[in-house]
Amino acid sequence: MALALSVLIAALGRALGWGLNRAGAALTIRLAAASGGLRVATATYRFYAELNDFLPRARRQRAIQQRFDRRTSLKDMIEALGVPHPEVGFILANGVAAGFARQVHDGDRIAVYPVFRNLGAVAGVGGPNGGVAERFAVDANLGALARQLRLCGFDALYDDAIRDDELARLAHDQERIVLTRDRGVLKRRLITHGYFVRAQSPRDQLVEVFRRYDLYPRAAPLTRCARCNGSLIGVDKAAIEDRLEPLTRRYVDDFRQCCQCGQLYWRGSHVRGIEALIDGMGAGQGVRDTL
Ligand SMILES: [Zn+2]
Repeated sequence: MALALSVLIAALGRALGWGLNRAGAALTIRLAAASGGLRVATATYRFYAELNDFLPRARRQRAIQQRFDRRTSLKDMIEALGVPHPEVGFILANGVAAGFARQVHDGDRIAVYPVFRNLGAVAGVGGPNGGVAERFAVDANLGALARQLRLCGFDALYDDAIRDDELARLAHDQERIVLTRDRGVLKRRLITHGYFVRAQSPRDQLVEVFRRYDLYPRAAPLTRCARCNGSLIGVDKAAIEDRLEPLTRRYVDDFRQCCQCGQLYWRGSHVRGIEALIDGMGAGQGVRDTL
């Protein structure tokens, strides 16, 4: 239609001795808009459970009408409304399961659900738990959480100088779950498995991640280095005795050493603290924040 009008205007312009100048082009666009060429469409969205955490208060727990004026995928619209795609477990479009790539149509009713813990991902959508082992890539702003995960025995990539694009690439290449408090990071297309950590304190963050990924059965303190993420191996006391404080040398016999950086570990206050936290998590108990 717009092309036809443009040709018509050009012909009219030529007949009157004009070129198709800027005014003619603008007229073409106005005519196209009036004829329906730029009609704005609307879809209705409803977000469920903890996905509401990402919405402004006035939009939570209710239907949201959102206009759109171009071909848009569900991923882009859901993220434009504030919800990072790795947080989404399941989408219904007009009552039918839909994937992120589905185009939004005028009048669509879109229901968006979080990942249901322990159920894994739903085919076609992808979610944080889907087929990925509990290996993490921790954002630069969550260093204490990364150290605590390592103390619990979990593989947690962490570098306080890492850039967002590097974090996304490594998480993608190594099939790691991204943990972050930056929702912009989670919107990166390369990231398929990720979680926005809600809690502020490191202890509460650890409890949150443990619950989210059901980590209790797999926690193994004293198996991974909190400093560098390397594996710990048993070491003879005689080989490291000169590095020990007098009291440790006297009372501790069982030592482990990081195979990457050489850091020594034993069942001291840090490890007892993390073990108490793991044991107590189900009962909502915690441990000191100094871990
Ligand atoms: Zn180490």
